[in-house]
Amino acid sequence: MQNQEYQIKRMKKIIFFLSSLLTLSSFCIVLLISCQSRDDSKPYIYTVQSGDTLTAISRNSTLSVKEIMCYNNLKDSRIMSGQIILLPGVSQMKSGDKMQQLEIIHRNVWGAQKPKKMNESKGFNKITVHHTTENKDAPKRSEIHFLQSVQKYHINMRKWADIGYHFLIGKTGKIYEGRLLHYYGAHVKNNNTANIGIAMLGDFNSDKLNPAQEKSLKQLIEALQEKYKISEEKLFAHRELGNTSCPGDHTMEFLKEYRN
Ligand SMILES: [Zn+2]
Repeated sequence: MQNQEYQIKRMKKIIFFLSSLLTLSSFCIVLLISCQSRDDSKPYIYTVQSGDTLTAISRNSTLSVKEIMCYNNLKDSRIMSGQIILLPGVSQMKSGDKMQQLEIIHRNVWGAQKPKKMNESKGFNKITVHHTTENKDAPKRSEIHFLQSVQKYHINMRKWADIGYHFLIGKTGKIYEGRLLHYYGAHVKNNNTANIGIAMLGDFNSDKLNPAQEKSLKQLIEALQEKYKISEEKLFAHRELGNTSCPGDHTMEFLKEYRN
């Protein structure tokens, strides 16, 4: 009888030992596979900007690309503008390049529709500036509605995969994101490869660029030049590449002055 009790006690001890071992080892495994090695009580909430890369975010946040991917459960390094990335243990980002400092209104904010399938771009080496012109008799619409109608026209009538321009600048100088820089644009006939398209909203054969529009256009061109190492000689007005009056005499004046 005593022997039996001893056996049961022994079995209990073994079971207790084994279950403790199991708990401990699973705890270790959780620790090993967890990415949350840094203080993650208040991660920095970062919104991905146009043309952002994980490498750039890593550089400006001091987290490694691997840490960012792990923490945000990213399967590959592809990120889209407007996407939220959480950065654990980061209280402040370094200012980054000029592109990251610009306030660009994401396409999901202005209600862009999903683009059709496109091939990915392989970098950019020139910029072309346009204007959208406007029908003076058309009823006045908000800029957001206007952008949506431009996109609709490009997709439905021109049969393009998305809005043709990469950026559009509104009357108050707001910079809107058009086609993502992941893709080549559709804005200059037979000259869209590696060509970034910027469109000024309005007709600048008749109207002058106001100071807010000039400021935003200048800042955007400078940021893109810095990001893609594009020289002044590679900054074009649409009329310099095709038979058109686009982007209007007044934008042309601005570009000539800028290049000097
Ligand atoms: Zn044009």
